Amino acid sequence: MSGSKCSKLGGILLKQVLDSVDTVLFDCDGVIWRGDQVISGAADVINRLKEAGKRVFFVTNNSTKTRTMYAEKMAKMGFKVAEEEVFGTAYCCAIYLKNVCQLQGKKVYLIGNPAMAQELAAAGIQQTGEGPDLICGQQIDWANVPLDPDVKAVVVGFDQHFSYMKLNRALQYLIRQDCMFVGTNRDSRLPLEGGKAVPGTGCLLQAVETAAQQKAQTVGKPSKFMFESLALQFGVDRERCLMVGDRLDTDILLGSNCGLKTLLTLTGVSTLADAEAHEKSGCTERQKMVPDYYVDSIADLLPALQA
Ligand SMILES: [Mg+2]
Repeated sequence: MSGSKCSKLGGILLKQVLDSVDTVLFDCDGVIWRGDQVISGAADVINRLKEAGKRVFFVTNNSTKTRTMYAEKMAKMGFKVAEEEVFGTAYCCAIYLKNVCQLQGKKVYLIGNPAMAQELAAAGIQQTGEGPDLICGQQIDWANVPLDPDVKAVVVGFDQHFSYMKLNRALQYLIRQDCMFVGTNRDSRLPLEGGKAVPGTGCLLQAVETAAQQKAQTVGKPSKFMFESLALQFGVDRERCLMVGDRLDTDILLGSNCGLKTLLTLTGVSTLADAEAHEKSGCTERQKMVPDYYVDSIADLLPALQA
């Protein structure tokens, strides 16, 4: 992008930028892998950044894996990663409910998945709702379905068993006084290879928000919570931190929201044309989605990381 705010990262500039940071945050899908296919050179980049003394973390909106599951997937792909370095929304949602909502020892209604149930259990939070919520009979008294009196919050993440019954149950809980409402993330569509796509968690969350006529707190990108909890645990200096991602509306916006340097990699969802359109829009909100730098792939960082 000539004459633009966003510069291609390479050569001397690459070395300068890497020297100016001591923490690097990576989104996962579209950045270090695509589905189950590792991005060529990604493991070398991560491992060499660590050898060079940088701290590396992974920040992902995908709620279908626990920290342990992510660390195992990464180890298989050749990344040297500890589970404490992984901040997924299943984990972040659990610590938000524990630390911010003070729900340790309490119960939530979960529209979610087994990974979320596991992270909740690890945080000392009980849940009801995981798995299918089948209906029986023809005559259902929807407004009077049985509810658990101990439920203190409705929590929404990715749920392949999402249904009218679950939507209705969430509404019945949220109508009650003092029921908190938390979502993992707002990604509305997950693009796949060959122009294919599937609905993201944002669709489920919006359905519940529409029914309940209220907005959920979300923990995933671009919400600051994910970065703030990581920064607090590890003492990250935001001025010496680089956020690397493939989506302008989540990864790059998170970086801008938190005052980090931002790097777009072109192996995933967003294109340089998308960044250019935001930059030319004249809209302050959209300009937050323009990255500082871009690369074709994170493998482009390797020349500055040779031993
Ligand atoms: Mg991504």
